[in-house]
Amino acid sequence: KAKEAGKNNCQFYAKGMSASAVNYLLLENDLRRAIELEQLTLHYQPQFDLASGCLTGVEALVRWQHPERGLVSPAHFIPLAEETGLIVPLGEWVLRAACVQQKQWIDAGLNVPRVAVNLSTRQFRQRDFPGKVASVLRHSELPAEYLELEITESCAMEHAGETINQLNQLNQMGVQLSIDDFGTGYSSLAYLKRFPLAKLKIDSSFVFDLPLDQNDAAIARSIIGLAHNMQLTVVAEGVEKVHQAEWLLAEGCDQAQGFLYAKPLPADQFESHFNRAGEFDLNNNVVTMPSL
Ligand code: C2E
Ligand code: MG
Ligand code: MG
Ligand code: MG
Repeated sequence: KAKEAGKNNCQFYAKGMSASAVNYLLLENDLRRAIELEQLTLHYQPQFDLASGCLTGVEALVRWQHPERGLVSPAHFIPLAEETGLIVPLGEWVLRAACVQQKQWIDAGLNVPRVAVNLSTRQFRQRDFPGKVASVLRHSELPAEYLELEITESCAMEHAGETINQLNQLNQMGVQLSIDDFGTGYSSLAYLKRFPLAKLKIDSSFVFDLPLDQNDAAIARSIIGLAHNMQLTVVAEGVEKVHQAEWLLAEGCDQAQGFLYAKPLPADQFESHFNRAGEFDLNNNVVTMPSL
């Protein structure tokens, strides 16, 4: 491998690779070490019931605190992690860290109904993935009902037959399952109805221009209708404005997540929003709910 060639690296790069490829390789090396050195951290973004304002859960989102580059966005390193296979150890770290954190919240008396963890395709496709989840739940002593796993629409549909098997095993364990970025991939409705899902998450690209954009409004309304006809909960992602939240509430969307309520927060900042009764306090924080 190039990185084992030591001092000849520069020469090797110069001949065969573009600057961005060099950058990529350096980043890959760094990412490998980051997983070992625990430079990764999770931020948590709350999700709310639109009608009541109650906290319904949090989504765990990975961050990389790079010693020189600063906080690196997952949009940059998740694709790299997927290409190199590093997503498997990275994803395991995320799953473990999120389950341990959720268990701590329960033990501390904070009412956090559920933690949602994003899965990459490669991670989800591992044969023994449900077994790995079971082992993480056992070690963290977290009851399965507190864990939600998000897979993207394209991941779910890619090998739909296998997906059904994996999802059934996870569902039988008591884990909640949701489809992330719904509407951006291609869904076979025949498969969708056979997946043991709890939730659809409307992709933020359909939410940003609500309610003015007629196409986005039609798409969002259709997803809400589809979800409800299939007895699924529907969550809107990327809610930034009160007008969007009001429209979503009026259209019957169940839950919302977005900068209007809160950005993804480090655990301690997230915890600071809970009152003495252990409830996420709407008056004591950033949250503004749409007027009913
Ligand atoms: P996602 O799962 O769809 O997560 C939602 C993304 O939207 C997050 O970006 C979040 O910070 C951002 N977001 C939330 N509310 C708003 C809003 O109101 N406006 C805008 N503009 N953005 C909002 P983030 O944290 O940068 O993550 C990006 C993507 O990276 C995630 O999209 C997910 O696909 C992936 N990702 C993050 N963490 C993990 C992980 O642990 N494992 C895997 N496999 N993928 C992850
Ligand atoms: Mg997600
Ligand atoms: Mg999403
Ligand atoms: Mg997304």
